[in-house]
Amino acid sequence: MALSYFAEKEDYSLNHIRARKIRDGYLVTTDYGSWAYLSEEEYRQVRTNNLKEPLLSLLKEKGIVLTQSNTENVILDYRKKWGYLFQGTSLHIVALTKRCNLNCSYCHASAEQLPEGHDMTEDTAKKAVDFIFQSPSEEITIEFQGGEPSLNFETLKYIVKYAKKKNETVRKNLKFCIVTNLTLMNDEKLDFLMKEKIGICTSFDGCKEVHNANRDQYDKVVSWIKKIKQVYDIDAMPITTKQSLPHYKEIVDEYVKLGLKNIWIKPLNNLGYAAESWKKVGITPEQFLEFWKNSLDYIVKSNKKTPLIENYAFILLKKILTKECVNFTDLETPCGAAIGQIAYNFDGDIYTCDEGRFFDIFKIGTVNDTYKKVLSSGQTACVLKASLNDNNPHCEVCAYKPYCGLCPVLSYAETGNIVSKIPDKRCDILMGMFTHIFDKMLFDEEYREVFMSWIEKS
Ligand code: SF4
Ligand code: SF4
Repeated sequence: MALSYFAEKEDYSLNHIRARKIRDGYLVTTDYGSWAYLSEEEYRQVRTNNLKEPLLSLLKEKGIVLTQSNTENVILDYRKKWGYLFQGTSLHIVALTKRCNLNCSYCHASAEQLPEGHDMTEDTAKKAVDFIFQSPSEEITIEFQGGEPSLNFETLKYIVKYAKKKNETVRKNLKFCIVTNLTLMNDEKLDFLMKEKIGICTSFDGCKEVHNANRDQYDKVVSWIKKIKQVYDIDAMPITTKQSLPHYKEIVDEYVKLGLKNIWIKPLNNLGYAAESWKKVGITPEQFLEFWKNSLDYIVKSNKKTPLIENYAFILLKKILTKECVNFTDLETPCGAAIGQIAYNFDGDIYTCDEGRFFDIFKIGTVNDTYKKVLSSGQTACVLKASLNDNNPHCEVCAYKPYCGLCPVLSYAETGNIVSKIPDKRCDILMGMFTHIFDKMLFDEEYREVFMSWIEKS
């Protein structure tokens, strides 16, 4: 008969932790994201399981040490952080058309100046809405994309009307937004968007030189941003390309001048047209990190005058500083493919996510299928499994694991394999960002004050 004895000396046990040296101390994180920064001596106490006060109390409070009295709360916090797993798909990206009136050098959607016939029909739109409403999520956001979605504005109107009608009985928290290049905007369209409370987001690369290098429409876009800002709200997003690198100050200044509240400094992904023109527009992880750090520094240093928030830093901070489920689909494990967001192509094909639309391998069904069938398919399960950072030996020892996740689409684009080979370019970027955020949080008072104010405002 099997026997086992265990003589427990202490009234606590150490939670599973990972550590990373930052400057002279050690960052220690748990699986659910609580953390502490320890001196060399404190870290020695942890490693030898010889904890003394006041360190012991701090580690109990953070759930880094488990006791009879805090274990229940740690389990609840863990469940809360991964709450997105229990709610159903909330973000539904509907590509109304494959067509676009522009030809941006980095276009992710590979949109083309095609004739009609590449638009979502009313019949497909109806089926897409019926599919969307099968999600058990109480929150439903329908995001209109393309191509340029305003080229198929009649179908957009139809979806809004039909979804609202359907929602009269199910009463979900239903929201809409559109991602548009603004160049086909007119008063009639704006009136409709405002009347129906549809959020507007535009691609705006900041200063004239950079925006026009990607597509020659700076004056028109700026004039529409100004006009919309007077009567409604608008978000904008720049993409960081080779052309952006010397212009971080001008780009930030332009966002501030236009009264935009957020700027999301994102790296260009090697997808769609960007992959074809990578030599011209692409950047290395090191170049992106330098650009992001410079931009963040410029934003933080001028934050008392201009309360602009850098969204990427904000998301990482939310993951690090709060117990909330952030549900940012690209940085969860498993990621939000299918369970957090679904993308509907103009022809009714369904993909795991917006970025997944580039590759057939990420097609998980059509609007003629049921939500249950698509979500429980082997294809969906494979993508989700590949996005887990639990089985990866590099991630397994990385202190940033609880805040991070893998991307099967970017991995497939880079290597032809949905399983990420870490470290890769994306990991280099994320590792650099996490280290910078922790370093600034811990050692720079000015940054800490601004970071905390962003979190308090949210
Ligand atoms: S596969 Fe990649 S792009 Fe798609 S949701 Fe997951 S992390 Fe995001
Ligand atoms: S992808 Fe890189 S940064 Fe993220 S958890 Fe894995 S090793 Fe860490």
